[in-house]
Amino acid sequence: MNIQQWCTPYLKQANEEREYLHRFPELSYQEFETTNYIEQQLTQLGLVVERPLDTGCIAIIEGDIASDRVVALRADIDALPIQEEGEAKTDFFSTRPGIAHCCGHDAHTANLLGVARVLAKHTSHISGKVLLIFQPGEETLPGGGRLLCETGWLQKYPIQQIFGLHTSPSHKVGTITTRPGELMAAPDEFHVTIRGVGGHAACPHEAIDPVVIAAECISAFQTIVSRSVDPTESAVVTIGRIEGGTAHNIIPEKLQLWGTIRSFSSATVKRIEKRMHQICAGIAQAYDAEISLTINKGYPAVINDERAAKQVLNHAKNLFTSDKVVEMERPIMAGEDFSFYQQFFPGAFFFVGSGAQKSDSKYVWHHPKYNVDPGFFETAMPLMVSLAIGGSGETGKE
Ligand SMILES: [Zn+2]
Ligand SMILES: [Zn+2]
Repeated sequence: MNIQQWCTPYLKQANEEREYLHRFPELSYQEFETTNYIEQQLTQLGLVVERPLDTGCIAIIEGDIASDRVVALRADIDALPIQEEGEAKTDFFSTRPGIAHCCGHDAHTANLLGVARVLAKHTSHISGKVLLIFQPGEETLPGGGRLLCETGWLQKYPIQQIFGLHTSPSHKVGTITTRPGELMAAPDEFHVTIRGVGGHAACPHEAIDPVVIAAECISAFQTIVSRSVDPTESAVVTIGRIEGGTAHNIIPEKLQLWGTIRSFSSATVKRIEKRMHQICAGIAQAYDAEISLTINKGYPAVINDERAAKQVLNHAKNLFTSDKVVEMERPIMAGEDFSFYQQFFPGAFFFVGSGAQKSDSKYVWHHPKYNVDPGFFETAMPLMVSLAIGGSGETGKE
């Protein structure tokens, strides 16, 4: 029997479980019901389950082959503050207004539960221990990964490798992709408050209009990457939210901007931060306004361990046809708090195709219509099981 055959009996259940979790999404650090559900499923398998944080949990699978080897597999479990949309999901639409699993963490959780079932049945093939980490709060700072690492719980184990995955709507089902080294950027958050003087829209000369000042800031920020960052470095400055004003005929007193900075090197981040502070100070002086800028440090960049990333690609090639396994040419600018684990243990993060041409699974992460094709599990589950078992990825006969 091979690993795919081990997984086949659990694929349908994983998809049903994903749909169940999808109906009851919970925001970062509030995943109490989700955690209880996961814990219940894991204890039913006879596994030891620990809760180092208020939400999220870790299951320990003891292999029958005595060894010091410890491998960790991680899934994130939180949902997003998004009002869900989309016709394809009507059977399992979010029951909670304004909260939805639009990043696929429901699928990550269901997949790791499936992996737990497969591994619990095949402990005779496992040497040492496998830790299954169901992590809270990936979407919101400070990051569940950071909080978990700060408890020191994982560091009690000599974890030799840690693996994590993410659905990828831009790749068709069946595709696996990752790369050694730089994989995902460090995302920092910023917040700008512009204070002017409010007044009547008909009398702009008696006011200091923060709307016009915000427009200046937004345009000037766009010159940072194009004019101040080394062209051979990757960086992004994006404003994702603007808030200000109440009516068409009122000049507001205050306006706020929220955005994100993405890059790989700390020198580039410093350069961007310095330019943002200079731009805010300069525009404030020019327009006689007050501008405050705060920057919150996000997650470190995801830098894959060379050996672990190669292992993911090799295991995938052993399990599936090699045309489905793609080594990424360049990193992406999205962020992931998987990077916290990589500060302590060699690890690799990878993407598993969840897109299909004729469904709404083509929508990108964080889109209200985001969906995961059920075929995702056919790739994700065997690959995680294979990495847990170790070796070449082929188990031979049972
Ligand atoms: Zn996300
Ligand atoms: Zn995500």
